[in-house]
Order: sequence, then structure tokens, then C-alpha cells
Amino acid sequence: MPGVTDRVVVVTGAGGGLGREYALLLAREGALVVVNDLGGARDGTGAGSAMADGVVAEIRESGGIAVANYDNIATEDGAAALIKTAVDEFGTVHGVIHNAGILRDGAFHKMTTESWEAVQRVHLWGGYHVTRAAWPHFREQHHGRVVVATSTSGIYGNFGQANYGAAKLGLVGLINTLAIEGRKYGILANAVAPLAATRMTEDIAPPEMLAALPPAHVAPVVGYLVSDECTDTATVLIVGGGRVQRVAQFATKGVTFATPPSIDELAAQWAEITDLSGAEPGTNPLG
Ligand code: NAD
Repeated sequence: MPGVTDRVVVVTGAGGGLGREYALLLAREGALVVVNDLGGARDGTGAGSAMADGVVAEIRESGGIAVANYDNIATEDGAAALIKTAVDEFGTVHGVIHNAGILRDGAFHKMTTESWEAVQRVHLWGGYHVTRAAWPHFREQHHGRVVVATSTSGIYGNFGQANYGAAKLGLVGLINTLAIEGRKYGILANAVAPLAATRMTEDIAPPEMLAALPPAHVAPVVGYLVSDECTDTATVLIVGGGRVQRVAQFATKGVTFATPPSIDELAAQWAEITDLSGAEPGTNPLG
């Protein structure tokens, strides 16, 4: 079975937490892995090579193939250098897992432009930069896999995470269009909202909940999404604690007005407009 054997997969933020699990699983399954990590703290400050080096050492000790990269994927140059590492070391890139992430939580009334921007840069811009740098290789070889890390904080919202939630759901917008543009080139783009005990969640969720959320539960799903077997695209999954769920956008039947309604007419129909019974998967009427 081909799976991910000999596929070149770049994992951003793979020096710890979930990314490390993804890199270990992919290498075990025969992929050639580029382990990227800037090596900083949870809020994105600092940098170092030890985290990525540690995971590469783990992979090599167990007979896998991996190379480290320490570039900052929040920048165009950093992402280009990361993809260049894959091409220089392994000849091409078949898959990109954009997993790198930081947190700058705070209630919205205390949100600063600096913390807003720092989070957008790593999550949303990083997703753009890394995928954009890999895209020409994907198109040329008629094969590509994109997996982005989204979050239930974007899908459902979470107190104190306006910057993070906006960036995370922005990534779903990104993969939705990549799925459309990539389809005829054999490029699939999907998103995983993980639930896992890592340094990112250590003080966010209660210990008893975290004990049931080992990152190892998430890695096989990400592995499947980059594998040759996968045919899904624009699929969003919530994965954690052994559960694998799909989430999707549904549209209600709605109400059609022949002429622009008054506010009162709209109010009178509001219950029917928003009634979810009979809702169906939504598609872009302008697409
Ligand atoms: P983590 O902090 O252990 O992992 C994030 C990694 O990204 C770190 O190793 C960090 O050094 C690296 N990184 C940060 N900025 C970078 C940059 N600019 N360039 C390169 N590397 C960078 O946290 P985690 O929980 O493993 O998170 C992995 C991903 O999953 C993140 O995108 C996170 O938002 C997402 N996520 C996690 C959870 C969860 O339950 N743990 C929930 C929802 C989403």
C-alpha cells in the first residue's frame, strides 16, 4: 500500500506537541519528513534549533528519514527556505502540514493590534506562505496534499481567543479555495481541528480532560489526509481523544422575497429563515 511511503512531507511547528506526533507517525509510515520548528515559546517569542533537532534525532534513531529546518514560517522568505529544504534534501515536496502556532490570548476589550497581528502572521499568513511556496511543485507533479491546523476556537468561538479564532477559521477559507483550484492537479486541501494535551492547552483545559487527549490520537488522521489513499478535499475534521468527527457548513432552506422586505416583514419571517430543520450542505451560489 503506498500510504505515505517515500512522500516528502513538510510539517511546520513539528518540534513538539502535535507536530512532533505527526512527524513521528509519518516517518514510521515511510515518509521523508522535513521537521520545521522555530523553537520559540508558546507566545511566539524566542527561537532555537533544539526542538526540531530533537525530533529529527528521535526519527533517525528509530530508522526513519527526516531533516530539520528552523525557519520562521510566518514570513515569505522563511516559508520559501523551508520548501527549499525539502526540495534540496529530497527532490520535491508532496505534502505540507501547516501546524505551527502561537497563542496571545486576551479578552477582546484588551486586544492589542500587536497580539492580533502576531497570531495572524503565524497561523493565517504562515499557512498562506508555506502553501504558496509548495504550490508550484504540487501543480507540476500533479500531486499535492495540504493539511492545516484549524481549531474549535474558530469554528465555535472561545473566550479570549478572537485573534486566534479568526486566524484559524481563515485557514478553513484558505483550504476551501485551494480545494477548488487544486482539484484538477491532484491537490487536496483539508483541515483538522485537534483536541490534544500540549503546552498550548496545558493551562486552558482541566487536567482530567487533558489526560484523555494524547496527541497520538490526532496523528493518524493527519497521516491519512496526506496519504495517497485520501480523496477528500475541503473536509474539516475535529479530532481528539479517539473521536474523529466531520464538521461542515449547512444552509437553511431560507425564505425568498420578491421585493426587498421591510424590517417588520423580515422580523416576521425570521424564525423560518433561521430554522435549521431541513438544512443542507451549503455551496457557493457565486462559484
Ligand atoms: P505547540 O505549542 O506544542 O506547537 C506549536 C509549534 O509551532 C511549537 O513547537 C512552536 O515552536 C512552533 N512555531 C510557532 N511559531 C512558529 C513559526 N513562526 N515558525 C515555525 N514554527 C513555529 O502546540 P500544539 O498544541 O501542538 O499546536 C499545534 C497546532 O494545533 C497549532 O496550530 C494549534 O493552534 C493547533 N491546535 C491545537 C489544539 C490543541 O488542543 N492542542 C487545539 C486546536 C488547535
